[in-house]
Amino acid sequence: MNTNDTLGAVTEISCERCHRRRTGRAYVFYYGREQSSSERFVGGNREVTTRYVIGGSQRVEVCDDCVKRRRLKGVLVPLGAALAILVFGLVWHGDLICVVPAFILFLWSLYVLSRSKQERGANIAYDVRQQALEKQGWDTGWSPDEYSKLKPADHRPF
Ligand SMILES: [Zn+2]
Repeated sequence: MNTNDTLGAVTEISCERCHRRRTGRAYVFYYGREQSSSERFVGGNREVTTRYVIGGSQRVEVCDDCVKRRRLKGVLVPLGAALAILVFGLVWHGDLICVVPAFILFLWSLYVLSRSKQERGANIAYDVRQQALEKQGWDTGWSPDEYSKLKPADHRPF
């Protein structure tokens, strides 16, 4: 009996994103659809409440490579846009105001960098199934983290 096989085992899955057998794991996401949206004013502040019908959850196997690639793209795209705005604004127009959107994009790339592997995996998992779910009328997806922040409809503070 070779226990090393199970102890140090790297889980090989067949990735639904790139359709290859690779190291990875299953990620869970939740899905549903928007039912209604209402707004009210509390002390002059607009408060929007969106209600969803929850459809359920699905598990999708995604490889580590796809999750890494997602992270790289998520960081490079806003960084590239920030650089483009800086070059366009400063060099061509000599306009300092472009520093503001460039800085916001820079912060966005930092935020992307800070998101967990779990979160990115769940996003890819939803992407993979999104089209099929939309055909069934489910238009919204959540990572487990986002899902846990939704409040049950019965919960009303007033
Ligand atoms: Zn993959």
